Amino acid sequence: MKAYRAALLRFDSNDQPVHDTDGLLVTAPDASGTQRVVACGAWSALRHLLDQPDASGIEVQHWPGKLIAPGFVDAHVHYPQVDVIGSPADGLLPWLEHYTFPAETRFADAGHAQHMARVFLDELQRNGVTTALAFATSHPESVNALLTEAQARRMRLITGMCLMDQNAPDGLRNPPSAPGLADAAEHSLLQTESLIRHWHGKGRLGYAITPRFVPTCSDVQLRGAGELAARYPDVWVQSHVAENRNEIAWVRQLYPQARSYLDVYHRYGLLRERTVYAHGIYLDDADRALLRDTGSAIAVSPTSNLFLGSGLFDFEAAQRSGHLHGLASDVGGGTSFSPFETMKAAYFTGRMALEAQGGVPKPGLSLSPSRMWWLHTAGGAQSLGLAGTVGNLNVGAEADFVVLDPSATPLLARRTAAAQSVEEWLFAFIILADDRAVASTVLA
Ligand SMILES: [Zn+2]
Repeated sequence: MKAYRAALLRFDSNDQPVHDTDGLLVTAPDASGTQRVVACGAWSALRHLLDQPDASGIEVQHWPGKLIAPGFVDAHVHYPQVDVIGSPADGLLPWLEHYTFPAETRFADAGHAQHMARVFLDELQRNGVTTALAFATSHPESVNALLTEAQARRMRLITGMCLMDQNAPDGLRNPPSAPGLADAAEHSLLQTESLIRHWHGKGRLGYAITPRFVPTCSDVQLRGAGELAARYPDVWVQSHVAENRNEIAWVRQLYPQARSYLDVYHRYGLLRERTVYAHGIYLDDADRALLRDTGSAIAVSPTSNLFLGSGLFDFEAAQRSGHLHGLASDVGGGTSFSPFETMKAAYFTGRMALEAQGGVPKPGLSLSPSRMWWLHTAGGAQSLGLAGTVGNLNVGAEADFVVLDPSATPLLARRTAAAQSVEEWLFAFIILADDRAVASTVLA
């Protein structure tokens, strides 16, 4: 058993924030050794637990003045793109061609992949991210490196090998196996299945079937990915959809018979629970209903969308249709690993809805601070099909949490001290905090 005392933030069953100014979090290991939440609430209501016989000898870790909050969930991030952050380009397609594809080619080298896996997970933890759904590259070595490192840290991490057997450069395009045996599509699907069998469900690790996006996948490869998704229903599926107008025009050329970009994935059986598509900027209400009805989620990636000038996610329409969505960094198209930066960009995106696509102006939306925070913790976990497991501090959840310091910088200290409500207090973090405010990240 372990016990932690500080201010506490969590979410109730109506997704509303609950804030204890003096709280207690008690955890204990399950049969596999993973720490789970045993109790969480006000110190005054729970302190008696420490007098129980089975709690004797427990030392309470006390962080006065700090906040214990659920670990953040990053619903979409590319681990091979750590070194691509901040590369200027004229939008998505030139950015992929000039920076991203060359950087990813290097992950054929297992040594490079191992090194970058450590750098990547260090960055996540420094920023308070405890769960991530991450793209690897098209090389199985990149998956093995990341999952080996996550396993050593006992971190909840989901990743998968990129399926991309066309419209990609040599060294990154999925290769055929030995001449005459399997073609590129078949080979990549066999590799995927073998990685699923080796890694999925091992400890806290998960596998995601990962078609990069429609233009880089042949018809045969997408069909095979859908068949795998049906055969392994608790494995994740991750990809990209409707990020950029040029990309959408390309997809329309490739699939003139499809109703929409999202419909292409639907035709191949790639919409179901535990399916997460990044961006989803240019969707219509029929697409949103399809997401909702299939239990698929959008990983909203606002710093990336602003950086690449892709467009503005429509939070109002998403909320209205009721489809799952959570927040994501999308590094390296995204500009920061920090959940505070991502929430801040989400806020800007909501306000700027006035300029929404389709030429129909609509009133700006002020996302509430607790709503943005929820979308990056409990809501993100729900989008990944992990509600109750991570992203909140409910009893039974895996005890992934962050310890935040409201006095990390002089300005943050002033603004949090002046806050009149929990919402104002959280908003001060969203606007002013960075990795300096993450005093500690604790993995279950
Ligand atoms: Zn992405």
